[in-house]
Amino acid sequence: MGTPMSDAQPSTASLGARHLYPNYGQPPLVIERGRGSELWDDRGRRYLDMYAGIAVTQIGHAHPRWVAAVAEQAAKLAHLSNYYYSAPNARLAAALAARTGFTRAFFCNSGAEAIEASLKLARRHYFSRGDTARDCVIAFENSFHGRTLGALAATGQAKYREGFGPLGGVRHVPFGDIAAVEKNLDPSVAAILVEPIQGEGGVIPAPPGFLKALRQLADEHGALLLFDEIQTGVGRTGTFLACEQSGVLPDVVALAKGLGGGIPIGAMLCGEDLAGALPPGSHGTTFGGNPIASAAALAVLETIDEEGLLAAAEQRGAQLRTGLDALLARYPETLDQVRGTGLMQALVFQRPDQATAALTAARESGVLLTLVGGLALRFTPALTITEQQLAEGLELVEQALKAIV
Ligand SMILES: *Cc1c(COP(=O)(O)O)cnc(C)c1O
Repeated sequence: MGTPMSDAQPSTASLGARHLYPNYGQPPLVIERGRGSELWDDRGRRYLDMYAGIAVTQIGHAHPRWVAAVAEQAAKLAHLSNYYYSAPNARLAAALAARTGFTRAFFCNSGAEAIEASLKLARRHYFSRGDTARDCVIAFENSFHGRTLGALAATGQAKYREGFGPLGGVRHVPFGDIAAVEKNLDPSVAAILVEPIQGEGGVIPAPPGFLKALRQLADEHGALLLFDEIQTGVGRTGTFLACEQSGVLPDVVALAKGLGGGIPIGAMLCGEDLAGALPPGSHGTTFGGNPIASAAALAVLETIDEEGLLAAAEQRGAQLRTGLDALLARYPETLDQVRGTGLMQALVFQRPDQATAALTAARESGVLLTLVGGLALRFTPALTITEQQLAEGLELVEQALKAIV
């Protein structure tokens, strides 16, 4: 603004602190580039990436196949809106159908939007059949479904909801409490929405038999069953969808996070029976499934197949579990338990201050993780993380534990 620039350009951290909306509270750490499961900051310091941008960079940073797919598509056609078909988008829908059995995909740009689409589909499905009384959804306490008002209404944690009311149309019951679900299943219920493993809530798997019981209840009461696989999906737990491991198929699946490998894309998948619920004009989005995002997601799916990343998630997941169990055995005064499956696991602390201190100490020792549910240090590395990198990460976490106890 006319003021002469001084020699010293303001640092990224100071610009961010001054001009970014302060809703995140970042530490003054600037990450400049990544490769696989490694990140480097602007001073050249290397970090092991054990969180993958919140379970997003599913095939690691800058995977050559993904980089080529995105660059080629950007040079060809970046955006179209959904007025016309594009090859990457149609091929992605078919590839998801081949993997999941759900023949229809609606694409959007985030997890919250995939949940919005699922909730809107559930309501409009009954509306389109003349049943206008089904305006309610059952969701679970401690769940996380996103931050838009509809997804937030479904989210069952006070810390996300506080101050944003009114948030309506959802009844929350305790996670795992099948009797409470049954009690709340009246003719106003259009759907039951559930995460197979609660992610942001602290990496808490549904108790054995719970998803199956939900399927049964939903069928008996004519309600839809919606799975939020935004965090558990795209191979994270060792199968393409986590629900495959429970043998339960929902009516609708929401995907996002890992699907684009770092380019924003979300998806709502369903079968032919629900294809009429949202007729042309009733729902949509400008960017949803744009050619670049779709090409990125196709590259993720092809890489998962070609590099055997479902098996890798299972094998590395077993290595992670062994390592975390060993830490649990060595630090019984600090740690409480290990939870999760595949490459979505958590080391649970006894006290929140220990968990916070461990997160910071881990970063200082060179490994990036996230904290969920106040007590759980969450591990969601790329499915491509190597055996050595995982071993190194576990060693660095142990150093961090030594530093805080
Ligand atoms: C991250 C997440 C969401 C929200 O996704 P956004 O892309 O942040 O909107 C919803 N549900 C689950 C289970 C998630 O992990």
